[in-house]
Amino acid sequence: MITLPRELPPTAGLPLQASDFLPGGGDLCAVLGSQLGTPPLQLACSGTAALLIALRTLQQRAPERDTVVVPAYTCPLVPIAVHAAGLRMRLCDTRPGHFDMDPDALRAACSERTLAVLPTHLGGRVADVASAVQIARDVGAWVIEDAAQALGARVDGRSVGLQGDIGFFSLAAGKGLSLFEGGLLACADPSLRAALRDNASVLAPRDLRWELRRSAELLGLALCYRPGLLPLVYGRPLRQALQCNALEDAVGDVFPLQVPQHRVSRWRQSVGARAARRLPAFLQAARERSGYLRERLQRLPGVTVLDDAPGRDGTWPMLMVRLPSQRARDAALATLWPAGLGVSRMFIHALPDYSYLRGIVPQRAMPNAHDFAARMLTVGNSPWWTEADVDAIVKGLMPQK
Ligand SMILES: *Cc1c(COP(=O)(O)O)cnc(C)c1O
Repeated sequence: MITLPRELPPTAGLPLQASDFLPGGGDLCAVLGSQLGTPPLQLACSGTAALLIALRTLQQRAPERDTVVVPAYTCPLVPIAVHAAGLRMRLCDTRPGHFDMDPDALRAACSERTLAVLPTHLGGRVADVASAVQIARDVGAWVIEDAAQALGARVDGRSVGLQGDIGFFSLAAGKGLSLFEGGLLACADPSLRAALRDNASVLAPRDLRWELRRSAELLGLALCYRPGLLPLVYGRPLRQALQCNALEDAVGDVFPLQVPQHRVSRWRQSVGARAARRLPAFLQAARERSGYLRERLQRLPGVTVLDDAPGRDGTWPMLMVRLPSQRARDAALATLWPAGLGVSRMFIHALPDYSYLRGIVPQRAMPNAHDFAARMLTVGNSPWWTEADVDAIVKGLMPQK
């Protein structure tokens, strides 16, 4: 019997359908806003662009504040946005064994120069925004919630992104609902929302070339995001990168230092609006699948699956799995990463450890973030895994003698 090659993605993206591409799908922000119960959302061309708009808006309100406090384990696009805004960055180390900022370290990182603090939800898991808000308020700073990886997550029934002053989501490929690239701003305060809108209209012009490129990429994503084609578009470049030990390339951690700003066309919004109508059911199915995965993995000695604190109800595009040591993590990845099972890593390094970011990231030791990066792997929770895939993942995670 011939078995065709097949590959699982590292995160659960909402698959697009041919009918999504028919025009007339409606207003993406309105569809999502009513699903999530948010005040009017604002569309940007990427999560990074949304963050840049948020930073510019706050800068205008407090030009004397020039520093942004960022968790030391997060997406390299975050320091790139801070740099593009002409602001300084201050890193905050994480709690031990976690991605969330350590409250004591956060308090020490904040001062009267702090413009904004960025609590960050990763992999669908919900960060402690309430502590960040309290600490930021004490120094008169704003809170921007980085919910790039958490569209659909809730805290006490309410969407993430609204506990701070401004929140943003990413609609990039691989982050759930995708326009190939896109971002959303959420803000409960009407005057701040108006300022965000004004800044976006200045910062993001129409740009036909960007829009044609993103439209073609979105079509390509819709075509290729299926287990039979992922070996070609995802698996092959991944295995090549792993063979060369080019780990940053393997997860796509290397980004240009410029942040493109342009408007998203009505057509691409309409594609997203049609797909978004399937999002609640898709997120619910992912949550149900994650229960079984969690149970299987959690039973393994030394394996911890990151979960949410009570009242925080995240999404499950993947499971973040922490192992007892870097050695154990690397041993598991040696077999699992190239195996086409959707096992991967999130960001390879803590921010100070990216050599290409050395000019824009403060070079200070961030021991907890460094340790978390060294011991964590991710298990994709796409709709396509089978019992046999989970058996293979479990076997790869067994402690090796
Ligand atoms: C992806 C991501 C961003 C940036 O979003 P893009 O839409 O890719 O620009 C910001 N923060 C985090 C934590 C992310 O994962």
